[in-house]
Amino acid sequence: MTRILWRSIKDKLLLPYIDLKTEYYDLGLLNRNETGDGVTALAAEAVKRLGVGVKCATITPNRQRMDEYPQLTKMWPSPNATIRSILDGTVFRTPIVIDYIKPAVRNWEKPITIARHAYGDVYKAAELRTDEGGECVMTFRGVSGREETISVQSVTGPAVWQGVHNKESSIRDFARACFGYAVSTGQDLWFSSKDTISKIYDGCFKEIFEEEFRGFKSEFDRLGITYFYTLIDDAVARVIRSKGGYIWACKNYDGDVMSDMVSTAFGSLAMMTSVLVSPGGEYEFEAAHGTVTQHYYKHLKGERTSTNPMATIFAWTGALRKRGELDGIRELAEYADRLERACLDTLNSGIMTRDLVLLAEPGCNAAAVSSDEFIETVASRLGPNAPR
Ligand code: NAP
Ligand code: MG
Repeated sequence: MTRILWRSIKDKLLLPYIDLKTEYYDLGLLNRNETGDGVTALAAEAVKRLGVGVKCATITPNRQRMDEYPQLTKMWPSPNATIRSILDGTVFRTPIVIDYIKPAVRNWEKPITIARHAYGDVYKAAELRTDEGGECVMTFRGVSGREETISVQSVTGPAVWQGVHNKESSIRDFARACFGYAVSTGQDLWFSSKDTISKIYDGCFKEIFEEEFRGFKSEFDRLGITYFYTLIDDAVARVIRSKGGYIWACKNYDGDVMSDMVSTAFGSLAMMTSVLVSPGGEYEFEAAHGTVTQHYYKHLKGERTSTNPMATIFAWTGALRKRGELDGIRELAEYADRLERACLDTLNSGIMTRDLVLLAEPGCNAAAVSSDEFIETVASRLGPNAPR
């Protein structure tokens, strides 16, 4: 379904106003199959070379999709995972906030962006379940031949065990991406962990963030933004009491859990944008949601669909604004602002897709329109004077 929205966004909101000199890589499932998934790597390389990319949601095939597309020669991996491994980046997720949809947390006035570290911890753990008393030890064997062993615990009965790790290089890249993103968006950065309990492991995260911050301190001072470290439980309490408007950097598991909490509390996945920022300063923008398959099946049956194009439009505006900044094309960044304003004005006038009507405050008299009607209303608000 998002592929259909993509076409319509390009035709009605972008191409009439912008001389889009994009390189195009078709990450549709069939083209990934035909190119042996080579096209995904090419797309990631292009983002590296050009500095900015924008991606439409893609299908990660599962068993059911293998039946639906019998020509598939393989259950191809998630393109996002492939791109992330090539760009080696951090994902920042930000809700789009509108007047008619009040966050479940009443005092949140501005979006909260979650930056989730996407390497290691429990996601790359070695686990063991044992059924008798005994001792578990952890041994590190260095390439030099040096060994270090510590006792994890002795137990008298059945137990479960978990060995987790992280790499200093990955934590450092994560810290740099977070500080860089705070500078590029002019927002405060919060980072939380549990270093009082995990003095070495979480302590290492805290220390690396402090070290990396030194390189960004003067930029932060110049912009009047701050870096704030606190314990994860204190952070949770403060986030709930806050007005929003900052970036919250989280370790992998915390980010997994908190991003679902924050996105749900702000309203809907259809109003959440996502950007992958690489340590080299490359940006790849997308919507946080998937391809919205259920709507596509309805579309195929000829039914009217009301799929929300906001996150996909904002992926484009994010990319255009960044391109404008990097190339010094002021008009491009201004057009991105203008398109976002046209979208927000449309929503604030009560014209929205069905998913939002269901969430809107009582009394806003929202009317559910189709995706096309929504995009056309936005286009009409851009007006004849939109910059060419
Ligand atoms: P999904 O596409 O995000 O959709 C799940 C449900 O959320 C939809 O059925 C719809 O609910 C609602 N929804 C999501 N986005 C919406 C929008 N823009 N407007 C209105 N409603 C929206 O997740 P999925 O169904 O689990 O995954 C579908 C495909 O997307 C899969 O093949 C998956 O691999 C892929 N995927 C891709 C990405 C990515 O490329 N970044 C991310 C996630 C999933 P209702 O049906 O109740 O209206
Ligand atoms: Mg999660």
